Amino acid sequence: MSGFGAGDKPVYEDYSKCIHCGLCLNYCPTYRELHLESDSPRGRIYQMIQVDEGRLELGDSFVEHMDLCLDCRSCETACPSGVHYGRLIEAARAQIHLHYKRPLLERIGRKLFYEHLLTSPALMKLFGYAMVFYRRSGLRDLLRASGFLKELGLADVEAVAPDAETPFFFSQIGKVFPATGECRYRVAFFAGCLANVTHARMNEATVRVLQANGCEVAVPTGQGCCGALHVHAGVRNVARDLARKNINAFLAGGFDAFITNAAGCGSTLKEYGELLPHDPRAAEFAKKMEDASEFLARVGLTQRLGPVAGVATYQDPCHLAHGQRVRSAPRELIRKIPALQYRELAHTEICCGSAGVYNVMHSDLAMDLLRNKMSDVADTRADVVLTANPGCLLQLRAGARLFSEKHPPRVLHVMELLDESARAAE
Ligand code: SF4
Ligand code: SF4
Repeated sequence: MSGFGAGDKPVYEDYSKCIHCGLCLNYCPTYRELHLESDSPRGRIYQMIQVDEGRLELGDSFVEHMDLCLDCRSCETACPSGVHYGRLIEAARAQIHLHYKRPLLERIGRKLFYEHLLTSPALMKLFGYAMVFYRRSGLRDLLRASGFLKELGLADVEAVAPDAETPFFFSQIGKVFPATGECRYRVAFFAGCLANVTHARMNEATVRVLQANGCEVAVPTGQGCCGALHVHAGVRNVARDLARKNINAFLAGGFDAFITNAAGCGSTLKEYGELLPHDPRAAEFAKKMEDASEFLARVGLTQRLGPVAGVATYQDPCHLAHGQRVRSAPRELIRKIPALQYRELAHTEICCGSAGVYNVMHSDLAMDLLRNKMSDVADTRADVVLTANPGCLLQLRAGARLFSEKHPPRVLHVMELLDESARAAE
């Protein structure tokens, strides 16, 4: 009898595609660090099969190995057999969420985070103001200097914690920003959830870049969290409610495209059709969803760009490169910036350790991955590290602060550097 119960679960049609060749192993960050078969894509799939066939309990050991996966989907890119690993791990986590009893504190924390904080703009604003207080009161500097966080084992978690940017981007929701010059497209911008608080300036820069390239940009009312973190954690019912809300908010406007600047969100937004297979509007929504770089590379830049001196490199966000298969578009845009030298980053397909809340839940392993990443960045001698996802930005900024020996590189979203280049042309 299957060890899986009711609800979404890994299915034979998906896991039977694995031919156990092991070609994914060297592309898996957890296998590269731990060298354990049970923490490789092949090993995890094997454990899912064992549970489904009733030969392994859906218990502590299974949960530990599933939890340790970054859901980075690097293995999907490497796999010659077309295994949709993301679908498998997310379904396995749905089973864990529904049928495994985590410790009480963890259950409370997950409930507060996934069902309350991420779904409530009011709570997010409150969280944002608390972060502003933490910084402005000097408490952050005091705690960092005192070594107290280290004593508590929280120094790594605090290092990658987001900062709040006032005014929050929430105030822009519901507005329409006109195109500069001739209007080529009417697009709807997806502002995210926490990004409204932690990446307000990045969202503004993205809107300006879209305007400057002939887009009227609406930020539709009624939108909210995309549900990506929920899907990754197996909290699929909440993700479905959030998806329905976003579909209602965006589809009504008759826009040419829906744009996000967050790779993690984009990957899930494009998979709403899988999340809501019986709702044809979900597939319609997903078809219109594009990453900002993907959209701009497709329609072509029309704005004037000015010089930006220095060397740039680019870290592929896992959910853009592996989740959405968007790799060339951001590079194409970066290479258009006058005077900027571009150097490829080694191991750019390997996760930086951010992975949603992974750097909080598994901070040791996430820090090891970040250390490796910053060593590759140092080899490029880049002045600016570019990426395309809020979580990666936070992680790489912490890396620049913690692991750069001399001059820490700037860490920016591709849209922020395009915006800077446009200002240099004025
Ligand atoms: S998703 Fe990433 S961490 Fe998980 S098995 Fe695949 S490569 Fe490894
Ligand atoms: S590369 Fe694909 S088929 Fe081969 S072991 Fe990994 S998941 Fe299975």
